[in-house]
Amino acid sequence: MSDQPSITPQPGIMDISLYVGGAAHVEGRDNVVKLSSNENPYGPSDKAKEAAIRATHQLHRYPNTDHAGLRSAIAETHTLDADRIICGAGSDEVLQFATQCFAGPGDEVIMTEHGFSMYPILARAAGAKPVVVPETDRRVNIQAILDAVTADTRIVFLTNPGNPTSTMLSEAEVQSLASALRPDVLLVHDGAYTEFAGEEFRLDFQLADAFPNVLATRTFSKIYGLGGLRIGWGYAQRPLIDVMNRVRQPFNLSVVQLAAAEAAMRDQDHVKRCKNENNRWRIWLQSALNDLGIGCDESHTNFVLARFRDEETANGCDNALKQDGIIVRRVAGYGLPNCLRITIGDEPSCRRVAHVIGRFMAERG
Ligand SMILES: *Cc1c(COP(=O)(O)O)cnc(C)c1O
Repeated sequence: MSDQPSITPQPGIMDISLYVGGAAHVEGRDNVVKLSSNENPYGPSDKAKEAAIRATHQLHRYPNTDHAGLRSAIAETHTLDADRIICGAGSDEVLQFATQCFAGPGDEVIMTEHGFSMYPILARAAGAKPVVVPETDRRVNIQAILDAVTADTRIVFLTNPGNPTSTMLSEAEVQSLASALRPDVLLVHDGAYTEFAGEEFRLDFQLADAFPNVLATRTFSKIYGLGGLRIGWGYAQRPLIDVMNRVRQPFNLSVVQLAAAEAAMRDQDHVKRCKNENNRWRIWLQSALNDLGIGCDESHTNFVLARFRDEETANGCDNALKQDGIIVRRVAGYGLPNCLRITIGDEPSCRRVAHVIGRFMAERG
């Protein structure tokens, strides 16, 4: 019998384009400088590493399912209610809980032109339709988001500060979006880079306190230097958290993840040092690029978006960097073909990347 029904994936699944991560290798080269994934060049807190190693003595034990220790550490550090925190395998998993719980077939999920490439993947995985709205000069346009809202809209994803744009919205702009959205539309404030922005950023928590339809997400992958371990978290009012906890697997975080994240959260001195170094070299690299005639918006993150005169120049520069063992991120897939996203590394990496770009620009004339 050849007419057996074939196994058919759920609607939307086959529309997903696979996520493309930042490259990590250059053929035939060691001592590569990887500036393609916004990783912390200084790595995690030593205390987090020690906690992870200690946790290996517990590898035969199932982890806590309630994440109480980690949630307390987060709550105490940020003065939040621990009962309103949910933890996931990266903030990606928290974004997935939200999409799975609040969007489905026939629903629309709004994201912005240069938004994070996980959002359309998550929307489609839930069977929902991604709706992409334009940005204005690489900044999120609040009015464009509001104009795109329909009766079918269930979620709005906002990255603030943005990736790969590095730009940030004003508090008033974010407030106006939260106030204007229908209360049955979930606003996700993806704060993967908030720790790199100016003074201590609390706007996302304030929004989650004020609006029952706001979810703030944070991650241990960027300033905490724990991208390899996969830990993130979300903050919202109890009803949202209670819904999302139903789809969370009871053992979604391992004993090692929980121990390292808790220790990392309690070592805010390390976070401060990383922030200071990042912001110092960010300013340096921005002005080095500007001196070379390369456009660069003021960054509020741990990367800069270098804007070349055209796509050919951007790709030529990327190739020149690669030949020198430096990996940055092409962002044509984010609608920015004439740009390269460059993570702020340590001092030698920043000097090296500026040097090679300078040489490329000089040779190109
Ligand atoms: C890096 C990043 C995340 C965090 O991903 P994790 O799953 O926590 O590693 C989320 N959103 C954006 C925009 C990011 O750049």
